Amino acid sequence: MGGAKPIRVVIVGGGTSGWMTAAALARLLPKRVSLHLIESETIGVIGVGEATLPHIRGFVEKLGIREADFMAWTRGTFKLGIEFRNWGRIGDSYVHPFGTFGRGKGEVDFHHYWTRLRLAGAELPPFEVFSYACMLARANRFDLPSEDPDRLTSTYGYAYQFDALLFAPYLRAIAEGLGARRTEGKVVEVVRDGERGTITAVRLDNGERIEGDLFVDCSGFRSLLLGEALAEPFEDWNHWLPADRAVAMPCRTTTSVTPYTSAIAMPAGWRWRIPLQHRTGNGYVYASAFTSDDEAARALTGAVEGAPLADPRILRFRAGRRRRSWVKNCVAIGLASGFLEPLESTSIYLVQQAITALIELFPDNADSDVERDEFNRLIDLEYDRIRDFLILHYHATTRTDTDFWNYVRTMEVPDSLAEKIELFRRAGRVVKYREGVFLDASWVAVYVGQGILPQGYDPRADVPDADVLMRGMRALQGEIAAAVDRVPEHLRYIDRYCPMAAAA
Ligand SMILES: Cc1cc2nc3c(=O)[nH]c(=O)nc-3n(C[C@H](O)[C@H](O)[C@H](O)COP(=O)(O)OP(=O)(O)OC[C@H]3O[C@@H](n4cnc5c(N)ncnc54)[C@H](O)[C@@H]3O)c2cc1C
Repeated sequence: MGGAKPIRVVIVGGGTSGWMTAAALARLLPKRVSLHLIESETIGVIGVGEATLPHIRGFVEKLGIREADFMAWTRGTFKLGIEFRNWGRIGDSYVHPFGTFGRGKGEVDFHHYWTRLRLAGAELPPFEVFSYACMLARANRFDLPSEDPDRLTSTYGYAYQFDALLFAPYLRAIAEGLGARRTEGKVVEVVRDGERGTITAVRLDNGERIEGDLFVDCSGFRSLLLGEALAEPFEDWNHWLPADRAVAMPCRTTTSVTPYTSAIAMPAGWRWRIPLQHRTGNGYVYASAFTSDDEAARALTGAVEGAPLADPRILRFRAGRRRRSWVKNCVAIGLASGFLEPLESTSIYLVQQAITALIELFPDNADSDVERDEFNRLIDLEYDRIRDFLILHYHATTRTDTDFWNYVRTMEVPDSLAEKIELFRRAGRVVKYREGVFLDASWVAVYVGQGILPQGYDPRADVPDADVLMRGMRALQGEIAAAVDRVPEHLRYIDRYCPMAAAA
């Protein structure tokens, strides 16, 4: 095993997922793999995908990348969470922070104490004032978190907002520097073993045949290997997540470069606003069953702040995933494996999780069923949780102003989500995950932010005296506000730490 011949890995696709996979395999399994990536400039990449989750920092670190350098090259900004506007009701606004509420310590989560006081009729400020990350975001300020767990300034994480078209080339340089081979060309045929059905080679439009042992399908929505050649069925979640198109249009930045992404609810979906160093990314994600492309483009154009830098571009997709991501000797990563709309910036996270699972389960034999089954189990878990979390945002609304909002408000949700909502409504309890994405504070932020308030709380929250509790809350609020005041403005921090000029 130790001195075995390297496995020939062929990656089809050079978008974000293709180059993330190539860079990670080249860095972390240099002796186990020989890498060959095929991409077609004529087909191009999807070119969106600018907001991320904090897990991306682990990826950047594992690749040995210097954060400031990476951010300068990708014209990146910091992201402390997502601001949701008009979701529960028109006029509402809340932040889903990458951080805790309260001090993030103790046996009992902060929201139980808050609920106790609320149910007792106390006058309380908005829930988010008790989150350092939320208040930092609202104040447009940024600093790296403290490493001292006793400090309030350690109670958050952060992610990046970057230019999607600059991310893959950055990774390409790393992967090629580590020996990955790249071929420009269009795959026109997938060659399979007649008996076992495994993929043995792909043929390009110039006639070249590229052989391999393990094939990674990063070909985007087309899912050339897994979906087309191996015919793995697509599980369609459109009835729960009806948004199936987006119109995207970058603009000049005229207002704040916020350290957060905004998700602003619209008549038939929602609109993103992602500020980068050199421009602001905008897009309207909508359900084609409830609005037309023209109407969506008009609504986006009318809503964006700065002058457009390109014409509106329509993208089509479908919520769902291939039933299995790894079939025979083919692993699909990225859009080729599935897509959940970008409301919580989960796609690049899913790419990263798939790469991590592939590396941790990297087989001796590319057609090995035990590793494959475990990989598919892990990916299933990730998709199912994210799916429920996304559906929650739509379903937990009181909006009745359009057919779209009436549909999502009244639709049946998966049992797994109905149970989670009920558990929270009864006594503020959140389904626990040992690993993965969206832990307790994320669910609490969305429940409370969209008006699902608990009717009870953890009995341990009864221990402190009510007035002690109230004084503690006021002190915390004051402490957070004072700490936020000491932090630099987001753009000033970027200018010092990772200005795009540094990459020129
Ligand atoms: C509207 C929208 C908004 C999004 N926003 C976010 C976000 O904020 N955050 C986030 O994490 N994700 C987001 N995503 C998802 C994100 O864009 C993708 O997950 C990410 O870009 C990875 O795409 P990919 O590499 O899988 O596919 P693609 O970028 O489509 O790349 C496919 C590659 O395959 C190649 N290819 C295809 N066919 C062939 C062939 N026959 N021969 C050779 N090569 C071929 C193409 O040339 C290309 O290189 C968003 C997606 C959409 C649709």
